[in-house]
Amino acid sequence: MKASIILVGTELLSGGTVDTNSIFMAEELNKYGIEIKNKLTVKDSIEDILVALEFARKNSDLIITSGGLGPTIDDITKDAVAMFLNKKIIVDDKDLAIMMKKFEERQLTYTPNNIKQVEKPEGAVSIPNKVGMCPAVYVDGIVSFPGVPSEVYDMFPRFLEWFAREKDLLVDKIYIRDLLVYGIGEAHLDQIISGFFTEEGIDYEFLVKDFGIIIRLQGKNSNKNIVEKIAEKIYNIIGDNIFGEGNDRLENLVIEKLKQEKLSLSVAESCTGGMLSAKIVGVSGASEVYEEGITTYSNEAKQKRLGVKKETLEKYGAVSKETAEEMVRGLKTDVGIATTGVAGPLGGTPEKPVGLVYMGIKVKDRVVVERKVFVGTRNKIRERATLQCLFYLNKMLKGKY
Ligand code: AMP
Ligand code: MG
Repeated sequence: MKASIILVGTELLSGGTVDTNSIFMAEELNKYGIEIKNKLTVKDSIEDILVALEFARKNSDLIITSGGLGPTIDDITKDAVAMFLNKKIIVDDKDLAIMMKKFEERQLTYTPNNIKQVEKPEGAVSIPNKVGMCPAVYVDGIVSFPGVPSEVYDMFPRFLEWFAREKDLLVDKIYIRDLLVYGIGEAHLDQIISGFFTEEGIDYEFLVKDFGIIIRLQGKNSNKNIVEKIAEKIYNIIGDNIFGEGNDRLENLVIEKLKQEKLSLSVAESCTGGMLSAKIVGVSGASEVYEEGITTYSNEAKQKRLGVKKETLEKYGAVSKETAEEMVRGLKTDVGIATTGVAGPLGGTPEKPVGLVYMGIKVKDRVVVERKVFVGTRNKIRERATLQCLFYLNKMLKGKY
């Protein structure tokens, strides 16, 4: 089955808004094995939407539109769809009642143009909107969603479930396994795993994210066993670099493990300057294990707050294995992380180049200090050091390091 996505909104063409809806839709469509034939972005103009519908109709079985369902004059997507299908626009009484109730409950002011939000081409099916006011509507192979991303995230998966059932698509449903890798580059990964994919219809792709690389394995549901076997083979070779699957993130895994083991955590940051702390605090429930994070940026702070020796700083410098070790030993919790490095772009020397970071990790009596040279902008270097620390700690907590 093939789909086309039509993104409606003048702001999407002028650069005012970045389209993220189609990215979400693509991932969901992929699960059902629905191929996206094309994506078209058009202004809030009836003529332009009609041209796009015309084009999309020729090469797809399902047309998905996003944007332009609101109450204002520029929201005309449903009018264009009705015109395209030669249908009247009607008000759905059931949808109207639901919307009026929301206005009352949320104590919002109803104005007459709000009625546009529950208009639809005659014969269209409504997909209830649990977030906003405007239901999505489906008729004759065309489904229209609002532009607001949170509303798309709410309704799109429910629409697809219904649509797949309606069209008997479930037989094709795609089985996906996302392995999350850290510390091996894309090119190297490709060398390692490409040989495993000899069967027709079983594919892999790499998705490079800021938290690592996703190896996405996928095949038809009926080939689930083959996909699982390939995943096992990959684990056997690079298992140490696979930190999780699906929605796992290093910070969540680390906090979870600390909770299980009842270990307390604190961090002392120099070059990462709070990034590590922010990542940890981003995990709901971190308070059970996280005691404190301090940014010890100057030499004085490192001495005063962590007890780093003056001689160590003088002899080896602030960016050194020795300083990182004293920093992390200065933390009094069961588990600690310390960072010290040259984030750049200034301040690099031949011995201590920009990107050089020492990371001290402590788990109870054990202290490890790692050295890495990261590349990138100041911010990227700080982000990479943050992630690297979590990767080391995760491994140490799993006893694999
Ligand atoms: P609309 O439904 O066209 O009134 O859009 C409502 C809001 O969603 C506006 O703030 C748009 O900028 C935003 N929006 C519209 N289309 C998209 C899209 N494809 N991706 C992300 N945001 C969007
Ligand atoms: Mg709009």
